[in-house]
Amino acid sequence: MRFWFALCCFLSVAATLPVLATPQAFDELAEQIRSGSRYALHQQDQEALFAELKALLPAGDPDRESQYQRLSCALTWQQDPATGLKQVQAWQAQSENPVHQSHYLQCQTELYHLLGEAEKADNSALAAVDLARQGNDPYVLGQALLSTADLHSFRGEYALSLQQLFEANQLFAALDYSYWQGYCIEYIATAYRRMGDYPEALLYIEQAERDYVPKGDRFRIAFLMHEKAYSLAELKRFVEARRLFEASRVIYQELHEPLWVQYSNANLTWILYETGQYQQALALGLQTDKQLQAAAEGSKVNTNIYRALLKMYLGQIQQALGQPETALKSFTESEHFMKLDHSARHLLLLYQARAGVYQQLGLYQQALQDVLEVLRLRTELTSAAQRQQADLLRYQFDTERQQAQSEQLERERNLSQQQVETLKRAQRWQYAALALMVVSFGLLVWLLSNQFKRNKRLHHLAMTDELTQVANRRRVLQQAETLRLQAEQNQQPLLVCLMDIDHFKQVNDRYGHDSGDWVLQQVAQCCQHLLRKDDFLGRTGGEEFLLLFPATALQDGIAAANRLRLAVQSLQFELIDPALQVRVSLGLALLDPAESLTSLISRADKALYQAKANGRNQVCVAE
Ligand code: GH3
Ligand code: MG
Ligand code: MG
Repeated sequence: MRFWFALCCFLSVAATLPVLATPQAFDELAEQIRSGSRYALHQQDQEALFAELKALLPAGDPDRESQYQRLSCALTWQQDPATGLKQVQAWQAQSENPVHQSHYLQCQTELYHLLGEAEKADNSALAAVDLARQGNDPYVLGQALLSTADLHSFRGEYALSLQQLFEANQLFAALDYSYWQGYCIEYIATAYRRMGDYPEALLYIEQAERDYVPKGDRFRIAFLMHEKAYSLAELKRFVEARRLFEASRVIYQELHEPLWVQYSNANLTWILYETGQYQQALALGLQTDKQLQAAAEGSKVNTNIYRALLKMYLGQIQQALGQPETALKSFTESEHFMKLDHSARHLLLLYQARAGVYQQLGLYQQALQDVLEVLRLRTELTSAAQRQQADLLRYQFDTERQQAQSEQLERERNLSQQQVETLKRAQRWQYAALALMVVSFGLLVWLLSNQFKRNKRLHHLAMTDELTQVANRRRVLQQAETLRLQAEQNQQPLLVCLMDIDHFKQVNDRYGHDSGDWVLQQVAQCCQHLLRKDDFLGRTGGEEFLLLFPATALQDGIAAANRLRLAVQSLQFELIDPALQVRVSLGLALLDPAESLTSLISRADKALYQAKANGRNQVCVAE
C-alpha cells in the first residue's frame, strides 16, 4: 500500500517536470512563436503558450533564458508594468548586444503604453529601430519597424510609416513569416485610409484577407472588417459598410471583447447618421456612450479617440434632430477627448460641425472662431498631405527605380548566364564536331588507303600474268610502247625479243598440264632473274614471252638472248623428270627509226619463226 502511494507521488511529480527540456524542443517552440505559426489571441492562451516554452527551457542555459525573457517580456509584466519597466531597463543596461537591447526597448514600449505614457512609449519605439539597425536580426528589426510605423501613421507621417511598413514586410517575406507580413499589410491599409486613399486601402485589406490572415484568427478577421468598412463608408458605400460593422460586432461578442463591441456600435452610429436614420442613430449612440464609458473604466486601453468620435456623432445627430443646445454639449465633450489625442484629422471634422451649431444658435463670434480653426487645420493637413504624397511618390519612385535596376541586373545576369550556357553548348558541339571530323578523317584515310591498296591490287591483277607472276600481255605491250617512245625521243636503240618454248606441247602431253604449268613458271622465273634492271619481261600467250631491252646495242641483245637460252636449257626439273630439258627459240628485232610497235614485234616474230625453222634452240635476228 505504501509502495503504491509512493509510486503515485513519484508519477505525479514526474508529470510536472520538464521532461522534454531539450535545447532543440525549446528552439523549435521559440521559432514557432517568433514566426507566428503558433500564436495565442487571449492573455490566458498566451500565458499557457509561454508556460509551455518555459517548461522547455534547459537548466543553466543563459542564452536561452535571455531569449525567453525577451520573447515573453511584455506578457510577463502585463499585470505590473511599473516593476517590469525597472527590471527590463536593468536587463537592457547589462546587455551589450544591440539586437537584445532593441528587443528590450520594444518591450518597454508596450509597458509604457500600459502605463499610459505615450511619449515615452514613442521614444522607446524609435530608439528600438535605431538599435535594431545596428544588429543583424531581421525579425527584431521588422518588429521594431512595425511598431514605429503605426506610431508614425497615427501622427500623420504616412510616407515614413509606409516606408517602414514596406521594409518590414520585405524582412518578414525573406524570413517566410507570413503571419507578420499580414500585420504589415494591414497597417499599410490603415495608413492609406488615414491618408484618404481609400481605393488603395481596400486593395491592401483584400490582400491581407486573402493571403495573410489565418482562417482561425477571428479577431483579426473582425479587425479587417472594420478597416474595410471605414474605407467603404468614406466612399459612400454605406450599405456594405453597415453590414461589415454588424458582422464584426457579432464576432467581437462571441470573442467576449466588450470594448470592440462598443467600437462596432460607435461606427454603426456613424453609418446610421450618414444614412439619415437619426432616431435609430441617437438611440444606439447614447447606449454605446454609456457602455463605452463603463468598458473604458475597467481597461487600461486608450479609448479617447472612440469616445471623442462617438460624442461628435451624437452632436451631429442631435443637430440634425433640431437639438442644437444638446449638440453643443456633445461637441464640447468630444473636443475634450480629441485634444487628449491631438488628432488634427478629427478636430477638423468636429469644428466644422460645431460651427454649424453656433451659427444655428446665432453665436456668430464662436462660429467664426471654429471656421477659422477649420481653415487653419485644413491648411495644415493639406500641406502635410501634399508633403506626404510627395515623399511617398519619391519613395515609390526610388523603390520602383531600385526594383527596375535590380530587375535589369537580374536580366543581365540571366543573359550572361544564358550566353555562358550557349557558349558552353557551342563548345561542346565544336568538340563533338571536331571529334567527328577526326574520326571521319581517319575513316577517310583508312578508306582511301584501302581503296588505294585495292586499286593497286586490282591494277597488279590486271597487269600481271596469274600463272607466272610476270607482266601479262597488255602490260608488256604497254611497256613496249613506252620504251619505244623513249627510245625515239632519246635516239637510243630498243631491242625486242620474242621467246617461245620448243615443243612444249610434248611436255604437256608427256607429263601432264600441271607439269607444263610448272615448267612455264620456272622458265619465267629464270628469265626474270637474269634480266637487267631496265629490261622487261612479259608473257604474251601460251608458252611465248616478250622481252624488252632498252638502250641496248644489237650485239649485247644477242648475247643476252643467248644467255637466257642457255640458262633455260640448264634448268633442272627433278620432280617431273630429271632427264627433262627445256629449250627455247628467240627472235630479236632492233627498232627502226619511226617504226611502229606492231611492225617491230611482227619482225621479231618473223625472226622467231626463222629460229624455229632453222632447227630451234637458237637466236635469230630480224633484218
Ligand atoms: P614449237 O616448238 O613449234 O613451238 O612446238 P610447240 O609444241 O611448242 O608449239 P604448239 O603451238 O604446237 O604448242 C603449244 C602448246 O602449248 C599447246 C598448248 O597446249 C600449250 N600451252 C599453251 N598454253 C599453256 C599453258 O598455259 N599451260 C600449259 N601446260 N600448256 C600450255
Ligand atoms: Mg608457241
Ligand atoms: Mg612452242
